Amino acid sequence: MNALLAAILSAALATFAAAQTPPCPAPPTGYDASLWQKAWTVHHAAIVVDTHTDTTSRIIDEDFDMGPRSKDGHMDLPRIADGGLDAAFYSIYVASRFYGEEGPLFVPATRPGGDWPRPEPTGTVNGSARRALDMIDGFYRTVARHPDRMIACFSVADIRAAVADRRHAALMGIEGGHAIEGDLGLLRQFHRLGVRYMTLTHTNHNEYADSCAQATPRWGGLNTLGVKVVHEMNRLGMLVDVSHVSDATFGDVLAVSRAPVICSHSSMRALCPHPRNITDDMLRALAKNGGVVMINYNCGFLDPEYQKRSAASEMTKKIQENAAREKFAAGSQELEQALRKLDERFPAPPRPPLATLVRHVLHAIEIGGIDHVGLGSDFDGVPCVPEGMDDVTFLPRLTYELLHAGHDEAAVKKILGENLLRVFAAVEARSRELAGEAPFRNDSATDAAPRAR
Ligand SMILES: [Zn+2]
Repeated sequence: MNALLAAILSAALATFAAAQTPPCPAPPTGYDASLWQKAWTVHHAAIVVDTHTDTTSRIIDEDFDMGPRSKDGHMDLPRIADGGLDAAFYSIYVASRFYGEEGPLFVPATRPGGDWPRPEPTGTVNGSARRALDMIDGFYRTVARHPDRMIACFSVADIRAAVADRRHAALMGIEGGHAIEGDLGLLRQFHRLGVRYMTLTHTNHNEYADSCAQATPRWGGLNTLGVKVVHEMNRLGMLVDVSHVSDATFGDVLAVSRAPVICSHSSMRALCPHPRNITDDMLRALAKNGGVVMINYNCGFLDPEYQKRSAASEMTKKIQENAAREKFAAGSQELEQALRKLDERFPAPPRPPLATLVRHVLHAIEIGGIDHVGLGSDFDGVPCVPEGMDDVTFLPRLTYELLHAGHDEAAVKKILGENLLRVFAAVEARSRELAGEAPFRNDSATDAAPRAR
């Protein structure tokens, strides 16, 4: 499409979106009425993208239906419409328990050379890929259930078309790179099924990359297979996601990736010293790479005080809970009563306010620049979100706060979604450039070797 046509089309779409703005509710307490009205209009005219929601886990584990308005959790289709959330990446989350404590290399080292014939299974159960497949099925079942209100999307063009069609754009991202079980063929299969990003790790190290959640490194970043995973994702046009990886893995990914990368749900370590957050230097490197950090709303990643208090009380509570479970029979009334008492004695610490989340967004803008920040809520995946960001319906308040902080409409739209769309488009373009390249293959003789530097 030529540039003029694209500009006309996008202007027409913007007008159409503005015409569809739902009526503005009364401003929240303490909000300036005219700025609130403006924020509402800007928010609903913008393409709002969230790169990380765990609603998929509810779909699979609780048979959750996104159709009706629900009293618990953070998201469902009616609330998504109220919050003006146009597109979301639904997490194809594979917990580390599906991988095992220290899973084996998928390809046994005793089989040198190539990925054919297929190696025998190593004897250790690895249910990671199967779990990812179940999650993907849950995603598609949900989309099929509500075709009038949502649609599965696989590209920037799909997202823009869904917005024009007034349907929620639903995309998939794998959380936990062990989902591919160390197999580049499985990575390609997940891409064929429609998955468009992958966090290289979750809380566990895997066959090719180190996580930030394990103290002792396994590879010291990416190994040789890890480099091939990143290069294959570049070739396929999958967003490489560095949320959850170790700092060394983060550095390695930026050194080898042939396309911009994302942090789908991470906050600022300068404001809350948690290894899941990224440092200012990491953010500068990410900006230089052309990528984007999507700020996570989890209280424990935003507020050091909350983090400290919840960690301390959770530990004491856990010890006493274990004692009660030993003392009383499972399912007994005595046990239930003891657990209830523990809940009362160890209440969750007070939630930080929306202002704490806003500080992370503003800090990220200050350090990384306006083009390298976005939103990755972690809705339905975290136990606590700030007061004033209680669920997806509260999103327009973030737009208000950004305008209130002095950012103009164009800047706010970048944060709300355009930055992510730009990075996604760059990844798609790079994939087209790499189209002539042969797919990468496993090689059991070299996959576990340190990466070439
Ligand atoms: Zn996560």
